[in-house]
Amino acid sequence: MSTAQDDRYSFIAEWYDPNAALMRRYQFLYYPKDSSIEMFDIKNHRTFLKRTKYEGVSQEDLYIGSTVEVFSRQLHFVDYGDGFTARSLGDKKEKTLGMIKPDALDRMGMILDMISHKGLLVTKAKMVLLSRAEAAQFYMEHQSKPFFNGLLDYVTSGPVVAMEIMGGNAIGVWREMIGPTNPSDARSQNSQSLRAKYGTDNTRNAVHGSDSKESATREAEFFFPSAGPSRANTARFSDCTCCVIKPHAVLAGQTGKIVQAIVDAGFEISALQMFHLERANAEEFIEVYKGVVAEFNDMVSQLCAGPSVAMEIKSKDGNTPQSFREFVGPADPEIARHLRPRTLRAIFGKDKIQNAVHCTDLPEDGLLEVEYFFKILDS
Ligand code: GDP
Ligand code: MG
Repeated sequence: MSTAQDDRYSFIAEWYDPNAALMRRYQFLYYPKDSSIEMFDIKNHRTFLKRTKYEGVSQEDLYIGSTVEVFSRQLHFVDYGDGFTARSLGDKKEKTLGMIKPDALDRMGMILDMISHKGLLVTKAKMVLLSRAEAAQFYMEHQSKPFFNGLLDYVTSGPVVAMEIMGGNAIGVWREMIGPTNPSDARSQNSQSLRAKYGTDNTRNAVHGSDSKESATREAEFFFPSAGPSRANTARFSDCTCCVIKPHAVLAGQTGKIVQAIVDAGFEISALQMFHLERANAEEFIEVYKGVVAEFNDMVSQLCAGPSVAMEIKSKDGNTPQSFREFVGPADPEIARHLRPRTLRAIFGKDKIQNAVHCTDLPEDGLLEVEYFFKILDS
């Protein structure tokens, strides 16, 4: 990103004011030269925040759909504020729609890990089970093709994971990463591609990627509608526990490794979705620790410090909450590294607050916590 003296990026930002029960809109300005920010109240035509240095926002946060915290307010960037910003950030923050198809679901961790290694960012993710009608709508450009019915059989044979992927030239980079449509072509032409590695045949080719800006927009809107009801998640709400990959781990690009570790340990991830928690929701979610754990406020701050990935987890032994807790390990990663070095927190945790994952404590809370994300927040 070039940073001429007076460059500034402009976004339209929304903040839900809980006291007034109003959505407030601001023009948000970011000056890369000195990392300062400035805000104007759009409705009242007034300065809301004088230009000030602010460490909590960086260039990585500057994209549509981003959430930033400014003096305890969570702002959502909903649009570019001017043509300069749209032109200079547009290509660098290009978005595409990726889908992990049913046959590659047990590789989703590895795929997420490759995405992060390529420098691309997953900005939305959701596990969905498509109906035949939904699949037909998604693939409508192929309805007259001889392979259409087989394609519908395949993509409805199990859950898929839809992802909005963002980065410089994301559409092209992701198409290159997935490789040619036919896995046998992929194996001869691009042996490192995802379809070469995980695809089986012409139909079952593991992954999907949008082929143009137009299809990227249409396909992202299909899975992550900007208005109206969201696509149903796949949570089953029985014999389950809840796991949340915390924002520090997501931001550090560890989502893929954690997801793959969970799958490789034999657990089923029966629902998965990326969330960006509001502070009030984070507080409500871990309310049982309030007044019990000294670090309650820090735990809340961590949970809403960025995107997190919530999952419904099931184990085959019928003892899901206990089995999964053992796999996650002690709450303090230092202790985990001494006592249970192979647990998730021993491997991915940093300290008691940044301990990689939240997981349900009491077996009877498993369902409630899964419901909090997959029934209440995803409604
Ligand atoms: P893509 O953009 O690389 O996914 O390929 P297309 O848009 O052309 O096709 C969509 C999907 O339909 C592919 O990913 C395959 O799963 C399937 N498909 C495409 N071409 C064929 C084909 O010739 N035969 C069969 N059996 N399936 C195909
Ligand atoms: Mg296509």
